[in-house]
Amino acid sequence: MIADELASQLATLERDGLTRSVRTLASPCGPRAVVDGRELVSFASNDYLGLASDAALIEAAIAGAQEWGVGAGASALVSGHFAPHAELERRLAAFVGRERALLFGTGYLANLGIVPTLVGRGDAVFSDRLNHASLIDAVQLSRADSHRYGHNDIGMLERLLERSSARRKLILTDAVFSMDGDLAPLPELFSLAERYDAWLVVDDAHGFGVLGPQGRGSLAHFGLPPSPRIVHMGTLGKAAGVGGAFVAGDASVIDWLLQRARSHIFTTAAPPLLAVALLKSLELIAAGEARRAQLAALATQLRVGLTDTRWRLLPSPTAIQPVLVGDNHEVLRVAAGLAERGLWVPPIRPPTVPAGSARLRVSLSATHTSEHVAQLLAALRELEHAAK
Ligand code: PMP
Repeated sequence: MIADELASQLATLERDGLTRSVRTLASPCGPRAVVDGRELVSFASNDYLGLASDAALIEAAIAGAQEWGVGAGASALVSGHFAPHAELERRLAAFVGRERALLFGTGYLANLGIVPTLVGRGDAVFSDRLNHASLIDAVQLSRADSHRYGHNDIGMLERLLERSSARRKLILTDAVFSMDGDLAPLPELFSLAERYDAWLVVDDAHGFGVLGPQGRGSLAHFGLPPSPRIVHMGTLGKAAGVGGAFVAGDASVIDWLLQRARSHIFTTAAPPLLAVALLKSLELIAAGEARRAQLAALATQLRVGLTDTRWRLLPSPTAIQPVLVGDNHEVLRVAAGLAERGLWVPPIRPPTVPAGSARLRVSLSATHTSEHVAQLLAALRELEHAAK
């Protein structure tokens, strides 16, 4: 019986400390979360700039609903593309310095759209080993040959590119690695893309809004000029605080995506009220130096506070500050210990991260205060000796 088989698979997950469970929040996204009737300080969201519950965005969303209703009614190509969507695409393209941009429902859908549209059978994709699951799925969907290089291992990538005789090549990378918080060496990746005539697709889910001048993203952070071979994906549900994603690039790339990206064509467009909220969000991101400075200060406070403790932070310069624990059961115990002390830090286990590298993913937001971080540091110090 298939149901028995599933029950036994679920029991195996439970035994290995790999069961996932969904927590229901009874409060809006922010530094404090009400979960199971308790209020916790949350280090669990990707709301890096604290915009998800920002009053100006809420006001924009309400005004957007009043003017445009609550649903798009159809996919973009049929009749679901409204003036706020068009304006947002223009503004996003200008913000990241590209000719055009195209909106997608989520980052996952954007990645599933980009890769199979640019490459197919007989082509080759070169992916960082730690790329996000949506990029891994996108490569499978494309049917291109898949080559994985060690995390940020430029030498290995070059050897793979050298050996490849594929018609089209595509280098695929997270800009900020979602579970490690470190950056991809984008200038070096771009040089290789030039040398081997490859596309470079950059998933800037965690860099857009946070890195670069005015939060223009990881490519701007490295000062990389626009190039026809670079495709820039950014998500709108993390620093931008709302939801959705965009792909920015040369006009020909965006036109081709519009013709061929199935995850854009065959899905209902996002409600236009979200585009109205995102137009406001873009303004706040551009003017968000104080928020980004607060984020950097909190990261420094956390890193300094954990030196000379047993806790090992991964070398991350971003808002994602993972504390490496290793064992699946232990990371659950530490997360439970933090929860007892009023703190919510998600334990991340395989398959999201490689086996043996379970970690606490501390995710900082500009709406955290230094007291919140001090509370986390105190709790981790208390748990230092309890842990093995
Ligand atoms: N890429 C990366 C690197 C991500 O971390 C995520 C979200 N966790 C996504 C893509 C997917 O974006 P979205 O949540 O908008 O689907």
